[in-house]
Amino acid sequence: MNYYTDAVRYTQVRVLEVAASESASSSSSLTSSTSHSHGDVLVRSQVVGFKKIKFFTNETIGDGKLDLPENEMHTTSYWITLERPLLESLPFSISERQSGMFGLLYALESVATLLLMCDRRDLGTAIGENPPSLRESVALSEAKGLNPASLNLPRETEFFEPNLYLFDAYPGGIGFSEPLFRAHDVLMQKTRELISSCECEQGCPSCVGPAEGLLPRAKEAALAILHGLCA
Ligand SMILES: [Zn+2]
Repeated sequence: MNYYTDAVRYTQVRVLEVAASESASSSSSLTSSTSHSHGDVLVRSQVVGFKKIKFFTNETIGDGKLDLPENEMHTTSYWITLERPLLESLPFSISERQSGMFGLLYALESVATLLLMCDRRDLGTAIGENPPSLRESVALSEAKGLNPASLNLPRETEFFEPNLYLFDAYPGGIGFSEPLFRAHDVLMQKTRELISSCECEQGCPSCVGPAEGLLPRAKEAALAILHGLCA
């Protein structure tokens, strides 16, 4: 067997209580600002499918549906809120922006794992609406490389002001969120270095994730979002 099987999860995060929040107004624009926070969240996730991934190349060679019960977990999270003006200022299509966000989150998780000296599995990721809209904020995480059409997952929903979540993947949290919140600037800077110094053209597992799960301009879009965050 030259492949392994990975779960495809459908994850929703709801903020229960904000412990601290900091906004960074951009100096280059009066309208653009972003913020980062940490606090208590409720994470709902469900395994909705699986994909077969080839060793070494990380290429997806197959996928399928699964119907497992939903899981609910109260934990802690660090998150970044991307405000509307920032997203609208980016010269990309809606789907390129979405793909860029997923790519950026993938890279943030890699850097956070290094900073915390933890395992990738200790952190969960999700993208959701801030504040949660009436239609529940929904995010597809860990689903890169999967054909969303085959699983009937919403993909083209445009987030108005998305939150990029990095949450503790254990009930109650294990103390990663506050350190990540405090390390925000370093996290941004290191993530930028990671993506911009990577020699791949359109994304790879070392930076924004395997290219086949992303749109061609996702790497570019991820960098543009980061640029907006650091400005
Ligand atoms: Zn790369």
